[in-house]
Amino acid sequence: MNILRFIIGCKPGEAREREEKIAIVGAGPAGLAAAGYLRCRGFKVDVYDKGEEPGGLLIYGILEIHIDKKKVREGIRELKELGVNFYQKVEVGKDVLLEDLIKNYSAVLIATGTWKTRFLGIPGSKLPGVLGAFEWIIQYHKWKYGYSSVKPEIKSRVAVIGGGLTAVDAVYVSKWLGAKEIHVIYRRTREYAPAGVRGFKEMEEQGAIIHELLSPVEYIAGSSGRVAAVRAQKMRLVKMPGETRPRPEPIEGAYETIEVDMVLEAVGLYPTPPSMIDKIGVRLRRNGTIDTDEYKRTTREPVFAAGDVEHGASLIGPAFKSGLDAAKAIEKYLNGEIGWRKD
Ligand SMILES: Cc1cc2nc3c(=O)[nH]c(=O)nc-3n(C[C@H](O)[C@H](O)[C@H](O)COP(=O)(O)OP(=O)(O)OC[C@H]3O[C@@H](n4cnc5c(N)ncnc54)[C@H](O)[C@@H]3O)c2cc1C
Repeated sequence: MNILRFIIGCKPGEAREREEKIAIVGAGPAGLAAAGYLRCRGFKVDVYDKGEEPGGLLIYGILEIHIDKKKVREGIRELKELGVNFYQKVEVGKDVLLEDLIKNYSAVLIATGTWKTRFLGIPGSKLPGVLGAFEWIIQYHKWKYGYSSVKPEIKSRVAVIGGGLTAVDAVYVSKWLGAKEIHVIYRRTREYAPAGVRGFKEMEEQGAIIHELLSPVEYIAGSSGRVAAVRAQKMRLVKMPGETRPRPEPIEGAYETIEVDMVLEAVGLYPTPPSMIDKIGVRLRRNGTIDTDEYKRTTREPVFAAGDVEHGASLIGPAFKSGLDAAKAIEKYLNGEIGWRKD
């Protein structure tokens, strides 16, 4: 019994085979959960994914030390055995048009995640050596698994900006690739960081130098034109009524400069729905996530959305649950138990 089928509670062969075909775009936890559920309910399921292998960030993002990739790959193999079809290296919006999926399938689920670093956009952000930690970690995995011959760039002194799980993983990979001095710069304190006290302890155990209450304001170039230092402003935390996390507020005139040869920014990610999705009537929210209702229906019938692209960057659990909820809604829709949203 594999882990996906165990969580979904699927008993193969229990449901009658159905004629309806469902397209799922994105093979991360949200897409995989939906694929497993819908196939178990007898639907024909095709998954389109731009990666070389399915799994999304379970394979390309999270490090081996934080997730058992053998189990992930086993789960995917069992989904294939169950009859889920995977089409890899297919970018929807480029290699296949979303319009064509809408024409050819009874329902379409978008689960394409958040695959773009949101840079701070401070002066010097465009200097050589200032990179998005997310893309850099993806490149590391592509290189590690033999999908690319390009080893990610590494220098001796690295600054990792941010206090989330991507920052933690960036510290590990920097160390593994040979960085000698790793600075983590975070604008709050570890108690309020997405990676939590545990994540910060992990980074310290890897030898990282932690700078809390510090926020970069500028990247300074060296004589070669590459980034050579981070100029950062000291912060204090201010509790605001009604807010759970205190706000970092700059301390006037208090700056620190840290000399580095490379910067990995890990402060946030943008949702990445297939390109031109809004042109075919799928509305996006102001933050770029796909607008859905309580049944994960988008503003274009019969397109549903789930996972990080629908609720913003999160964790495996919420993404998985969101995919499962969308799959249950798709089943209800195809059974005629719910119609389409009216707005
Ligand atoms: C470095 C890092 C470390 C993390 N560590 C943890 C952790 O330890 N624990 C935890 O719970 N969470 C962790 N997370 C968060 C977790 O990985 C995500 O919340 C989760 O994977 C989101 O699932 P998803 O299915 O929505 O999207 P994703 O896993 O991002 O999958 C999206 C899929 O869509 C595909 N895709 C994108 N665009 C297209 C397109 N146009 N056409 C076809 N395919 C497309 C991609 O190839 C990908 O396979 C981490 C995230 C990162 C970046």
